[in-house]
Amino acid sequence: MKTFRNFIAGQWTAPSTGEYFDNVNPADTSDVIGRFPLSGEADVQRAVESAARGFERWRHTPAPERGDILRRVGDLIVQRKEEIADAMTREMGKPLTETRGDVQEGIDTAYYAATEGRRLFGHTVPSEMRQKWAMSFRRPIGICGIITPFNFPLAIPTWKMFPALLCGNACIFKPAEDVPHTGTLFVEILLDAGLPPEVIQLVHGIGETVGKAIVEHPEIPVVSFTGSTETGRIVGETCGRMHKRLSLEMGGKNAQIVLDDADVDLAMEGVLWGAFGTTGQRCTATSRLILQDGIHDDFLSQLVDRARSLRLGDGRKKDTDVGPLISEAAREKVERYIDLGQADGADLLCGGRRPEGREYEKGHFFEPTIFARVDAGMRIEQEEIFGPVLSVVRVRTPDEAFRINNGVKYGLSSSIYTRDVTIAFRALNELDNGITYVNAPTIGAEAHLPFGGVKQTGNGHREGGWEVYEFYSETKVGYLDFSGRLQRAQIDNYPGTPD
Ligand code: NAD
Repeated sequence: MKTFRNFIAGQWTAPSTGEYFDNVNPADTSDVIGRFPLSGEADVQRAVESAARGFERWRHTPAPERGDILRRVGDLIVQRKEEIADAMTREMGKPLTETRGDVQEGIDTAYYAATEGRRLFGHTVPSEMRQKWAMSFRRPIGICGIITPFNFPLAIPTWKMFPALLCGNACIFKPAEDVPHTGTLFVEILLDAGLPPEVIQLVHGIGETVGKAIVEHPEIPVVSFTGSTETGRIVGETCGRMHKRLSLEMGGKNAQIVLDDADVDLAMEGVLWGAFGTTGQRCTATSRLILQDGIHDDFLSQLVDRARSLRLGDGRKKDTDVGPLISEAAREKVERYIDLGQADGADLLCGGRRPEGREYEKGHFFEPTIFARVDAGMRIEQEEIFGPVLSVVRVRTPDEAFRINNGVKYGLSSSIYTRDVTIAFRALNELDNGITYVNAPTIGAEAHLPFGGVKQTGNGHREGGWEVYEFYSETKVGYLDFSGRLQRAQIDNYPGTPD
């Protein structure tokens, strides 16, 4: 079995602990991908010392040159797209069509970042004084701690690290312990593209050790975290206490609304993809379906037929629609919610159990599940299950649909199917989410637009697009006075004001 290493201080290196963990295929747990370092605090400490050296060098590299390296990263990911997608499916389960999309998101993010190297705008504005210039520009910040989840093993690290690197920072990367192989391939590519070795450090291990050590390290001023709201709360408390710059992207409970005037065939394709793609393990997964009275019964019966016909299996097989859950713990969590939904009086229309058959015995498979007669406020309607479970709520009016959409603590994405342009624009204004899709499912973010959620999904920052560059750079302002005399702002230009 292959033993993998960390990348610290410019070397592929064994963990200080001497301990490793197995990375297994969730579709077939007898398939072990390799042993990965179970690192300790000492590894994080070495990574920080090295990253500080890397930062000193990288911060002085011109931004267009940093962008050129990221363009080469994009080119290398293009060349290795199939290999990375295959490795990703093997270690986290989603079908190849989806892992190819995950890799493509990384490619798009690389090319966007490459061009940003030639912008990275500040502002030049007129001064209120004569013969004086006023301008703002961007400076790198330092070492960024990058902590990522399992469900988008390449896309999410690239959303964070490409802008961080483009802005001139060094990164310490801790991938989720379920997807260390994709993380390793990613770092290999960064190095092959010519990133100076000490600018990137890869430290594998569990969140409570390595993640915690990164968050608590005083020499890491920037932390970017994507994961559950529960873990995000712990990270946020520490970063708040230590005055760190922190970006949090956390859980979701996203709804698709289908109104009576909708194109129901389109809405049907949307909800199947939104609810059961990635086995429901997306932050933007559709976990609630809000149906208006007039279409409710027909839509639901067709949906149940379609959900029953989805093919479960190994994501590397061609005809698989839905792969396994990431782990046994994830499957047990889903099962607890099946019990809760039934105990609260919702109707279990399909799924709700592990599939039977030899091909499923070694994987964490779970059948696509639909609950109907779900009331607003039930736990399956309020809490993130992170599995292939869809809760259907019936409503009479668009206003009721909007209220239910907004009645959860999360606010990542939402979707509405309607042909009424007035309702569509009202939805954009009134749904409390970072993203609203009209006549499209709750998923489908594009790399060049800001991505993130409101309420307990995030803390106000965005990944992607132009906004993320604000997070990874410090704005500095420069005033240049070439008048040759003391000019007192707010005083000398208002001479009539009494002293
Ligand atoms: P998780 O919170 O269990 O883990 C995320 C990362 O945090 C992992 O790398 C983990 O090792 C690390 N971690 C765990 N404990 C830590 C600690 N005490 N200190 C520092 N790091 C720690 O999440 P997950 O199960 O990998 O991912 C699923 C969650 O991520 C879901 O809630 C999902 O909605 C969310 N998610 C959100 C977005 C978004 O953009 N909003 C995107 C993808 C996933």
